[in-house]
Amino acid sequence: LEYAVDARTYELEIAIRELNEANHELERKSAIDALTGVANRRLYDKSVLAEARRSRREKTPLAIAMLDIDDFKSVNDTYGHQCGDEALKHFTAILKECIKRPSDTICRYGGEEFAVILTDANPGAAYEILERFRKSAELFNYPQVGCKTMSIGYTVTDIDKNAALIIDEADQALYYSKKNGRNQTNCFLRLVDSGEIETKESEPILYF
Ligand code: GH3
Ligand code: MG
Ligand code: MG
Repeated sequence: LEYAVDARTYELEIAIRELNEANHELERKSAIDALTGVANRRLYDKSVLAEARRSRREKTPLAIAMLDIDDFKSVNDTYGHQCGDEALKHFTAILKECIKRPSDTICRYGGEEFAVILTDANPGAAYEILERFRKSAELFNYPQVGCKTMSIGYTVTDIDKNAALIIDEADQALYYSKKNGRNQTNCFLRLVDSGEIETKESEPILYF
């Protein structure tokens, strides 16, 4: 009987281990974008909250950027969605290489839009990093598709802004980059006095 119990216990231990591994794998997959292999929106939402908390605790600036491929719809329209998908994968691989610090994260926010979380980055530092992204994107030259550029908007916070506000600011800066001619990086500034919103052209901006 003792032998039978031991054998059964061993079997159960193996089953639990396998279940744990399967759970781990599921957790990992649910955080990854299936097409591009980078973090997905779900992981972004979690990471941005964690990093915002850390930034407040450690009093370090946190930069959040939105990156959007310029004129991507024409790729699908001209060459079909399959080619568009391949181009998107290739584009993401280029962006992934621009990430140098383990604490920085790139996520597919949706469609041809990416969000980048840069920890401990003031506006000047964030600008330099994001320009690296933009310039790498300029080198994108996919068979058939040819060259593509991307527009970038970002915001930097070291005060208590909620996640929705942070992304809204980055979005407004991105909108400005698009409107201002695409293929550029701009930072969001909120003018405290007038309450008006201002975005500034491609140059590092002094932190306010
Ligand atoms: P803009 O410069 O203003 O950003 O122009 P755009 O064409 O990039 O922007 P728009 O938002 O009009 O279109 C985005 C397009 O990206 C629409 C869709 O066809 C394409 N797209 C989004 N996600 C995917 C995807 O997963 N696969 C493919 N193939 N295309 C996608
Ligand atoms: Mg878009
Ligand atoms: Mg686009």
